[in-house]
Amino acid sequence: ALKVAIVGRPNVGKSTLFNRLVGKRLALVDDRPGVTRDRRYADGNIGDMDLTLIDTAGYEDVTDESLEARMREQTEAAIDDAELILFMMDAREGVTSLDRIFADRLRKVDKPVILLANKSESRESGGGVGEAHGLGFGEPVALSAEHGEGMADLYQAILAATSDMVLAESDAEEADKPIRIAVIGRPNAGKSTLINRLLGEDRLLTGPEAGITRDSISVDWDYEGRAVRFVDTAGMRRKARVQEKLEKLSVADTIRAITFAEVVVLVMDKDNAFDIQDLQLADLVEREGRALVYVASKWDLEDEPQARLAELKRLADDKLPQLKGSPFVALSAHSGRGVERLMPAILQAWDTWSVKVKTRDLNDWLALAVQRHPPPAVDGKRIKPKYIAQTKARPPTFVLFSSRASAMPDHYKRYLVNSIRESFDLPGTPIRLTVKSGS
Ligand code: GDP
Repeated sequence: ALKVAIVGRPNVGKSTLFNRLVGKRLALVDDRPGVTRDRRYADGNIGDMDLTLIDTAGYEDVTDESLEARMREQTEAAIDDAELILFMMDAREGVTSLDRIFADRLRKVDKPVILLANKSESRESGGGVGEAHGLGFGEPVALSAEHGEGMADLYQAILAATSDMVLAESDAEEADKPIRIAVIGRPNAGKSTLINRLLGEDRLLTGPEAGITRDSISVDWDYEGRAVRFVDTAGMRRKARVQEKLEKLSVADTIRAITFAEVVVLVMDKDNAFDIQDLQLADLVEREGRALVYVASKWDLEDEPQARLAELKRLADDKLPQLKGSPFVALSAHSGRGVERLMPAILQAWDTWSVKVKTRDLNDWLALAVQRHPPPAVDGKRIKPKYIAQTKARPPTFVLFSSRASAMPDHYKRYLVNSIRESFDLPGTPIRLTVKSGS
């Protein structure tokens, strides 16, 4: 979660905002060990973004002359710990000399700072906001912490200030984790034969790298320097339980494999590929937001490989347009032909799925996309998309702020998603777009 400190002089409304962002979970607020009692930490959120909030309001009760020193101490500690600073002032009172002291300090901080003009519920009374610009943090975000107004604008400002940073961080966290791969498909599609061919027969369930527990089986593997892990596949399962005679397609097993995996390899017998069950599986992968690779197996038995491959690719595009462009590999686990193309396809799907688009590039794209194809007018008023940021990768997830967000038709959202897909080269991968109202 992003660590956010709320700072500012007493009584501007820091605790009110803190409580609003923490919401019902306030009960969980707890002084962390080793932290002075004045500073509160709590988990909260704004929109779909998780936050750890640091409140500095504790000193406000102190009325003796040590106020300034304590305030400074609290603020310093919070600034130190936070990744983002919300600097709050009172819009009704305008900029005070104490606000200026805070501003002088915060201008030297090497972290994003967002200026909030609180108590803006009656906007006409916000006469002091004009001078706020002079504090050096740009246009303040007008809000009313007490009445919950301006929260969409705050969310947007937080995204604008931090989305690139947050995405880069999640990258670092993921850096040394193996890429999790599940191989799914109907019984007899050729899954176990393929896995055995890929990993080598005897390393499948022996050796220290094979982790077998009662409920899940996984094999860690190194493919050209990248750590990969095959999770919970039916073929492995069958080998582990030798006495099990017949392998059934267990929907529960398949769903679990999909949820554990990052990339899902859907193995289909070339003769009956893309029948109804395959379509359901592929659709499930898309809905779960995983990357997908199609495999047509037993290709050694195909008499007209060229024509059949073209036909299968056409089928894929027709029946699963939402996954158009997912890698497609035709192979034979028996002869080994085409198997060498599988891992590169998996890594390619993973890379696409992990893409991070810079906020600036996204907004450049948005301006062009809207210009090329403006949104329709609803009740005589235009829907105006304003701002977009990527909030998560894996799968790529975007939030778009727009006026009249709830009136935006689905076909327009699809246009935007398709345009993102093309502009940023994201074939096949699931893309999530939420539209929120924002000014
Ligand atoms: P699973 O149930 O998906 O794990 O399928 P299996 O790997 O057990 O394979 C089912 C049947 O298809 C077996 O009889 C395999 O020998 C056969 N098979 C698997 N891959 C190939 C292949 O590349 N070519 C041919 N000709 N047969 C294959």
